[in-house]
Amino acid sequence: MNFRIGHGYDIHRLVPGRPLVLGGVTFDTDYGLDGHSDADCLTHALCDAILGAAGLPDIGIFFPNTDPAFKNINSQKLLQRVVAEVTKLGYDLVNADLTIIAEKPKIATHLTAMKAALAQSTGLLSDEIGLKATTNEGVGDLGRGLAIAAHAVVLLSKK
Ligand code: MG
Repeated sequence: MNFRIGHGYDIHRLVPGRPLVLGGVTFDTDYGLDGHSDADCLTHALCDAILGAAGLPDIGIFFPNTDPAFKNINSQKLLQRVVAEVTKLGYDLVNADLTIIAEKPKIATHLTAMKAALAQSTGLLSDEIGLKATTNEGVGDLGRGLAIAAHAVVLLSKK
């Protein structure tokens, strides 16, 4: 068995008047993440971890933010395409471990729904996805609630 580890990181600014989508779940807030797509930084970090594990270019290359086809796109669609890309190369996803860094909103009550959405898009089981949220303890721009960031680590295997 050939194992490959990948890491992904993403950050998007919080702005008024955009829907807040994280891990495929829309939160009930009057602010959201700014970006060309739905700006779901958690899903983007996961995409980059999967692509990185397979030695492929990052999602900015696969889905350029200058392409109108990706304007406000649901990032679960991007994730599904990324999984299809590595599946084509013969890889299986083994597990993913994800961390959200957000001063606001409260994330904990949405973790189960986010895991379910990400499981659906990746084909992983819910218990093969680790998902947790932390604050930045008030430090820096993340700590002031100006942005939300996410880290992802994945393991791929190939027979
Ligand atoms: Mg992004």
